[in-house]
Amino acid sequence: MEILDLTASELAAKVQARELSARAVVDAHLGEIERRDARIGAFLTVDPERVRAEADAIQARVDAGEALPLAGVPVAIKDNISTEGIATTCASKILRGYVPPYDATVIQQVRAAGGIVIGKTNLDEFAMGASTETSAYHLTRNPWDLERSPGGSSGGSAAAVAAGFAPLSLGSDTGGSIRQPASLCGIVGFKPTYGRASRYGLVAFGSSLDQIGPFGNTVTDVARLAAATTGHDPLDSTSLQTPPIDLSQLEDGRLAGLRIAVPDEMLGDATEPGVRAVIEAVIARAIAAGATVDRVSIPSIKLGVTTYYIIAPAEASSNLGRFDGIRYGPRPDNAAAKGHIGLVEQAREHGFGPEVKTRIMIGTYALSAGYYDAYYLRAQQVRAVMRQEFEGIFHRYDVVLGPTSPCVAFRIGDLNDDPLAMKLLDACTIPANMGGFPAISLNGGFADGLPVGVQLMGPVLADEELLRIARALERELPDASRRAPRT
Ligand code: GLN
Repeated sequence: MEILDLTASELAAKVQARELSARAVVDAHLGEIERRDARIGAFLTVDPERVRAEADAIQARVDAGEALPLAGVPVAIKDNISTEGIATTCASKILRGYVPPYDATVIQQVRAAGGIVIGKTNLDEFAMGASTETSAYHLTRNPWDLERSPGGSSGGSAAAVAAGFAPLSLGSDTGGSIRQPASLCGIVGFKPTYGRASRYGLVAFGSSLDQIGPFGNTVTDVARLAAATTGHDPLDSTSLQTPPIDLSQLEDGRLAGLRIAVPDEMLGDATEPGVRAVIEAVIARAIAAGATVDRVSIPSIKLGVTTYYIIAPAEASSNLGRFDGIRYGPRPDNAAAKGHIGLVEQAREHGFGPEVKTRIMIGTYALSAGYYDAYYLRAQQVRAVMRQEFEGIFHRYDVVLGPTSPCVAFRIGDLNDDPLAMKLLDACTIPANMGGFPAISLNGGFADGLPVGVQLMGPVLADEELLRIARALERELPDASRRAPRT
């Protein structure tokens, strides 16, 4: 079998057994990036020499007898995760040329597990968007159809895996940015329980919602990277005091006897008929395999988008205050800037794109005196109601199942002029961030030749259980492992 066709787990086993060298693995992937990424645009930075040096260092550890769960496996990293010595731009002009002096905890963990950082991937600027079109640098295209968006904001990380540039990648998910691009690119994307993966070194967007998580071609691969990149981190004050994700029972999940809830609010008119048909077919397979499926109502789902678009911008407006042309960002010419305020204004005016500016303005407004109670406080109350409604469902059901995205991959440019339509796409993914719940998207089938993701959500800290269920469902779905054409 060709190197590019192997799963991450197979690659790691072969490198560990010294049937394949880490060098051969990265060379195959670097070659594919060289051959096709000009068309896809998944990466912002790839440094082949550095990648080869990393591969040789991993090889030396394998040769010395070290057991490494990700031995020689290339991992593509979203460009809002700090990498020592490698530019980290958040796809923003304001961070052009910024090279972090340290690695995020997840990067240290990837390296400790024997993984190789193959490059940094494109995203919506500061992870704000659902199409990767707000990147200040370039577009990313969907490997299934180059005229279409890979989704976002982690569109580069999803496209990199779907295109075969890396078997694994990391993204971040504030309102769906791992699961939605996984859905649109036909791969697996997992957002762990809030606090299971360290956020240390992730450039903050909405701190109470942000979570790092893996992409891969199979649930097993994703679980393997999740296991390597979770666990308590004293450098992140919101990190949970829980061990890394445990893979030992991944194969033990069964659909027989499983209680599944399907919220009506996720399968209404806003969901494309082709997407609904795939989800109905997945439900039928789950029932055939012995699961019980009930239609339920979770009314707060309808309030998710409005609530999220208060909370996330509010937190962003505070987090992005540090990009002022003094601490971060190119410093404008002092004389032309006319004093401190002028300097900050110039840096932000030229450094941020329109989507980021809009969010900072909305967030600042929502937090300002006199409006705080009406907007931010109110949104937090709705968030609490939403969490309670889902917790009530999780008392009676093992998982909530529905579409990840109400639509398949849309044409690049189609939603760009309609910010509301773009934001409504987040309706099914937002609840997991609001409640901190773990959630995973895997490919449920195809509508008009384009992949349709099915989302599973579980209660807080049920990550292992959710991965087991996803693995069991994956076994029932013939299309789950279909890969995009490598043209
Ligand atoms: N699409 C959502 C937004 O634009 C989610 C982004 C994310 O999860 N980073 O905010």
